[in-house]
Amino acid sequence: MEQLMPMQNDLWFLPLGGTGEIGMNLNLYGHDGQWLMVDCGVSFNEPIEAGSERTHELVCADPDFIAQQRSRLAGIVITHAHEDHIGALPFLWRRFQAPVYTTPFTAEILRRKLAQVGLLEDVTIHELPMGSRFSVGPFELQWITLTHSIPEPSGLMIETPAGNVFHTGDWKIDHNPVIGDKFSPAVLSTLRSRDVTAMVCDSTNALKTGHSVSEGDCYEALLEVISQEQGRVVVGCFSSNIARLVSLARIAQATGRYLCLLGRSLQNMVSAAKASGYWPAGLPMVDSAHVGYLPAHEVLAVATGSQGEPRAMLNRMAHGNCFDLTLEKGDLVLFSAMIIPGNEASIERLVASFKAQGIRTLQSHDTELPIHVSGHPYQAELANMYDWVRPQVAIPTHGEAAHMAANARIAKEAHVPRQLTGLNGDLFVLGQEIGVRKKAVTAKRIALARN
Ligand SMILES: [Zn+2]
Ligand SMILES: [Zn+2]
Repeated sequence: MEQLMPMQNDLWFLPLGGTGEIGMNLNLYGHDGQWLMVDCGVSFNEPIEAGSERTHELVCADPDFIAQQRSRLAGIVITHAHEDHIGALPFLWRRFQAPVYTTPFTAEILRRKLAQVGLLEDVTIHELPMGSRFSVGPFELQWITLTHSIPEPSGLMIETPAGNVFHTGDWKIDHNPVIGDKFSPAVLSTLRSRDVTAMVCDSTNALKTGHSVSEGDCYEALLEVISQEQGRVVVGCFSSNIARLVSLARIAQATGRYLCLLGRSLQNMVSAAKASGYWPAGLPMVDSAHVGYLPAHEVLAVATGSQGEPRAMLNRMAHGNCFDLTLEKGDLVLFSAMIIPGNEASIERLVASFKAQGIRTLQSHDTELPIHVSGHPYQAELANMYDWVRPQVAIPTHGEAAHMAANARIAKEAHVPRQLTGLNGDLFVLGQEIGVRKKAVTAKRIALARN
């Protein structure tokens, strides 16, 4: 095993997963003999054929480097509840046994995940309100509330005597996010006075020019489409996008329909949103067991499986195997979700099998309307962020090489003095000297389960 030990004058950033790829984020910060983990997520390998069925292998970053020295791991911080940030923790926690720090909604999701693997009683979860300051070992931390596509997206200000880092996590600038607070430039520009050595930043959409579209505009687009429909409408959507689900529930109310959730992960997420106070009261919902009895024009169902996953609800519906709801000619299946690269073929098969039955489909590329919007910053938003925070160094992450290179270019144009790009396993040195030690740790992915 590699021997690396941060000293008192050191501030290190060591990504084990999520830098050079989109998914399975696992980041370490090192200072004064201790480590801080930021996020612990999963990813999926390319679909593989297993017998007659296509399946996805669930993977995460190999945590061996930190598991081997877990007494030096002061704590684990989770920035938000997306699977690429939280999904590996229930599988890996036994190897760290460190306390977890997160915000209330993310804690609610984490407790449900830990309960499934029998760890709920073992893991100490420190639930910290958004915006709060707290310390973990030698690291002084503060949540910086951002906007994204899930409740409570929190960037992290990390302060040490050796230097300060603003770790953005996933974010966009959304002035109308449907739920949660609007994006606040004022909060971000206060970071400028806190002498940010490095900003470690989301690169997902760094190749896209302009500004991402607001969740509020997505609501308007979905309302426009759904209000013209006469038959059943089924929307494929990610279950963690609570704002999108609230929008759909409001659209149901505005169009005389009832919202129905088809699929366990959707039901679980909405129950977590209710428990955390993110689900507005009084929205018209119907139990999945009753949706089949409603007249077609009163049905607005949301279903899992927008990526064409074989066992999810949309695929079952396409094959007449959804127990609760049978679609008919003229009904509409609307995809309010991105296509995760690698899933194009399975989505195409799903769309084709709906069309073969006369069931209409609507995907993002079929319309000018923003029926899906991204939760990550486009170029103009990245430029704004660099201008507000004014770090000495930009470290692009959460992207493939091309995304990270584009992010670095934007940082340069925004007058950030230095840009450091690297990959998982590279050690970013951010103390008195600044630089990257390539391949300081061997970065690998490990398989967790098949899904
Ligand atoms: Zn992410
Ligand atoms: Zn995210």
